Amino acid sequence: MTRPFPADITVFERGWLSSNNILLQGEQAVLIDSGYVTHAAQTVALVEEALHGQALSLLINTHLHSDHCGGNAALQQRYPTLRTEVPAGEASAVAMWDQGALSYRATGQQCPRFRAQGTVTGQTERQLGDRRWEVHAAPGHDPHSVMLFEPESRTLISADALWEHGFGVVFPELIGEPSFAEVAATLDHIERLDPQWVVPGHGRVFSDVGTALSTARRRLDGMVRDPVKHARHAFKVLIKFKLLEQQRMSTAQWAEWRDATPYFKAIHTRFFSARALESLSEELLDELIGSGAARREGDSLLNV
Ligand SMILES: [Zn+2]
Repeated sequence: MTRPFPADITVFERGWLSSNNILLQGEQAVLIDSGYVTHAAQTVALVEEALHGQALSLLINTHLHSDHCGGNAALQQRYPTLRTEVPAGEASAVAMWDQGALSYRATGQQCPRFRAQGTVTGQTERQLGDRRWEVHAAPGHDPHSVMLFEPESRTLISADALWEHGFGVVFPELIGEPSFAEVAATLDHIERLDPQWVVPGHGRVFSDVGTALSTARRRLDGMVRDPVKHARHAFKVLIKFKLLEQQRMSTAQWAEWRDATPYFKAIHTRFFSARALESLSEELLDELIGSGAARREGDSLLNV
């Protein structure tokens, strides 16, 4: 039986710089993920408008990549009684604001400091909004990531573990922590949950989960067969993300950012050590430009 998408779940579909934000309405309003810092004012406005004066009670992050928690600080400022919960394995890094452990320094991205008052853990159940949700561990894209599943409507909030046409870069693999098997296990876990609706971290809500799982598994097989291709893809994703953030960068700014971003050095050392980082990064930038995702204008790089 096909059930309609639940009316008390509001999805703010944001794009690629900011993750989607999911508002679970009820006696207590709950938000899942808060987008990227440069969109934080818009995130607050979207939540305010949907809540009609009700306060936001709880904010949960599926994982702590900058595009999923960059609006946390602004929401905490707007709603002083807001409780924020993060995946259990990240709680101490948040408490100490260890930017190395939190990936912001490594990826050359930004996230304003926020506080967390609690944690979310896989294999637990929670009352969120007016529904009972299951929390599931979803390692792979990020070792600490969780997903949320509501069995009655069979709605899955999948974060970056499953999108309509793939899934997020498998970051741990880039620094030598084998994780492709965890991606596969998380996809199997999603299949067992048998969701009718998937609310991904990026892109629209979808219900053809079988096709999405096939696409994801095909992509994963390609990565396992050719990890260098995955590393090249990851490199380009990081460049594109920066261009989305900056919109325009001078060639000098681009080179400065690249040289100051440890992930590039890590990817380079691990997968491309026979080449100079500069020529590799220019080649990948040219591929982005060739695919229409960026363009050069005089001495500047522009997002497209
Ligand atoms: Zn992510």
